Amino acid sequence: MTSRMDVPFFRVCLGEDEIKEVTDVLRSGWLTTGARVRRFEEQFTRMLGLDHAVAVNSCTAALHLALEAAGVQPGDGILVPTHTFAATAEVVRYLGAYPILVDCCSDTLNMDLADAERKIADVRSGRLDHVIPPQTRITGMIPVHVAGYMMDLDAINAFAAQHGIWFIEDAAHAFPAAWRSSPDGPWQVCGSGNSKAACFSFYANKTITTGEGGMLVTQDEDFAARVRVMSLHGLSKDAWSRYSGGGSWDYRIIAPGFKYNMTDIAAAIGIHQLERAEVMRLDRVRCATYYRQVFMDSDAFDLPLDDACHTHAWHLFPIRLNLNVAPFSRDVLVEKMKENGVSFSVHWRPLHMHPYYQNIGWRSEDCPTATAVWPRLISLPIFYKMTDTELEYVAETLLSLTKR
Ligand SMILES: *Cc1c(COP(=O)(O)O)cnc(C)c1O
Repeated sequence: MTSRMDVPFFRVCLGEDEIKEVTDVLRSGWLTTGARVRRFEEQFTRMLGLDHAVAVNSCTAALHLALEAAGVQPGDGILVPTHTFAATAEVVRYLGAYPILVDCCSDTLNMDLADAERKIADVRSGRLDHVIPPQTRITGMIPVHVAGYMMDLDAINAFAAQHGIWFIEDAAHAFPAAWRSSPDGPWQVCGSGNSKAACFSFYANKTITTGEGGMLVTQDEDFAARVRVMSLHGLSKDAWSRYSGGGSWDYRIIAPGFKYNMTDIAAAIGIHQLERAEVMRLDRVRCATYYRQVFMDSDAFDLPLDDACHTHAWHLFPIRLNLNVAPFSRDVLVEKMKENGVSFSVHWRPLHMHPYYQNIGWRSEDCPTATAVWPRLISLPIFYKMTDTELEYVAETLLSLTKR
């Protein structure tokens, strides 16, 4: 038995390269958007093999800009998974549109397209009249690749085509991640599909970080141009380059934009995090492989999926407690884990079970799978350079607390 220790949920790991690059920025006197942001964007597009990337100060900002560039209008309906973080749906409200909350799959925790189909029918039939007017124009959807396990891109494409809607990927967990339709098919990296854009997060505990930050990638040049303009007050294109010293002093405001640009300080961290992204991912694969193996025989909880069609980012390791087998409820179990020094998190209380969405009229029975899975969820610590001792201690603690 490993002796008692404290295991954090996440430990940020920055190298000397990040520290030196930030120091160089501070000494350079140019703190805001400049050469390093450009370099970060270029490296990002090269790494994904995509055409356009716009660095911003959060994934939430990237999602907001993407919806704006997609032309979301007040009153539009946008399909959003209920099993996600606040950001995915709040950006829809920023633009005065309605998030239509969609249930999740019980195993992947990703958005359930069969329920998305039902929700469209429910809106049309007036069954969701108390939250969404039946005549609402449903224009898009925002799938989330939960924990970094990508959704089936062929299925999303087919769904979007069938309903004549676009989609924007909330890829906050999915860097780097990839998907293929069959074990011998070609890989598709997150962001390379038919989405209008994919939005990544560099929040402190995400798979790579810039402290706070985000990146929007797209294959569409005009879309990228709109996002870039709107990320900086809606100033015309050459005004943007004035930030790196080359632009015009006489800028033009072409739309009421936002203030979402990334700083060179943040990009300095990102440039070197990016170089190590795959090394860091492989180290999380080591953690996930250990958990999956050591927990294989426990029937007290179900493990996250992995298979030959996914390059999993392993941002999270969410287990689902089997409430009729485990000796404690989730709430009691996590308290006991905490007493034993093991930190945890829960991703997430579904949106339809939060007061804001309940007050709008969403009910537990609107998304029954997410409602049922919520009291089962625990996210275990998983991060780059988590030690073998830490992994063993988490596993031993959880197994001893859940054995009958
Ligand atoms: C973290 C997260 C976001 C928001 O990212 P920020 O960079 O903090 O804005 C959006 N969606 C999901 C699913 C997230 O986990």
